[in-house]
Amino acid sequence: MAWSDFKQNAATIRFVQKALLAGRLGHAYLITGESHQKLGLARQIAAALNCAGATGDACGQCNSCRKILTDHHPDVRLFRPESKSRRIDIDTVRELERVSFLKASEGRTKVGILVDADRLTQPAQDAFLKTLEEPPKNTLFLLITSEPEQLKYTILSRCLRINLFQEEPAEPSERQKNILSVLRGWKSAPNQSSLFQTYRLADAFQKALDEAKEEAETKVQADYEGKGYENLDAAQREKIEAEKDAAVKAEYRRQRDHLVRVLEDHLRDMSISAPSNRKLVRAFDAVERMHARFERNMNEGLLLEVTLMQLAEALESQGRS
Ligand SMILES: [Zn+2]
Repeated sequence: MAWSDFKQNAATIRFVQKALLAGRLGHAYLITGESHQKLGLARQIAAALNCAGATGDACGQCNSCRKILTDHHPDVRLFRPESKSRRIDIDTVRELERVSFLKASEGRTKVGILVDADRLTQPAQDAFLKTLEEPPKNTLFLLITSEPEQLKYTILSRCLRINLFQEEPAEPSERQKNILSVLRGWKSAPNQSSLFQTYRLADAFQKALDEAKEEAETKVQADYEGKGYENLDAAQREKIEAEKDAAVKAEYRRQRDHLVRVLEDHLRDMSISAPSNRKLVRAFDAVERMHARFERNMNEGLLLEVTLMQLAEALESQGRS
């Protein structure tokens, strides 16, 4: 990983780099936003603070950089939720506090990274707050979370916030284009039965979801590769596996949102030209409901079929008008 990997967040990254070069970083940062590069940025900052070659920058090649980028540096510690409870408890925070007050053994600055910081229990948050109030010297805390609202205000107010936007392709993806072409083709193929077209749409959508799932797994797997996790003990490995599962789910949700948005956008466009078409309004509602139910992990295939039937009715009525 290098600074240039954070293309979508170039302005934010420049700001971080400037602070690093000037040696004026705060004690604690909250790295948040929808990007999946939050942990990557935390490692990059830790590397820049401890690089043997460059000052305020990470060469990515020296022993220190390599150790940090693969989570093997003794002065850069990652703290994660327990695998079963998915919680970060007070004992973990006490351990974080203990190591924070020790002298750095190899590097210049110690870094404590809290992965999924929103999973801190209330007592753990209280304990961590005390550490934040009187932070140890030469130690930086990096809290990573997609849900900062789960953290106490008093913690949030003591952290500087780095917001990373998600890396969204400017162009619609192939998957989105496929769905869109079925939707757009509806009107131009009035002779085909509505049922046939509905199945074509359901098919295209399901295929897109399957691909998104596969892609999410590959993407997350790549993030975790080459970190030597296979050498960890069983308990640590279990934590990593749970974290990976959660990351795959989050990435898949993100991709699925993009696909549902194609349906929503198309219906919205159509209803602009036919504001009184009630079937369109109903179809739009149905898609929104489906979206909300997806979030609650209800049967995806079934929801899709029911919703697309309603959507087909709307598209059909539009074709006739
Ligand atoms: Zn280096």
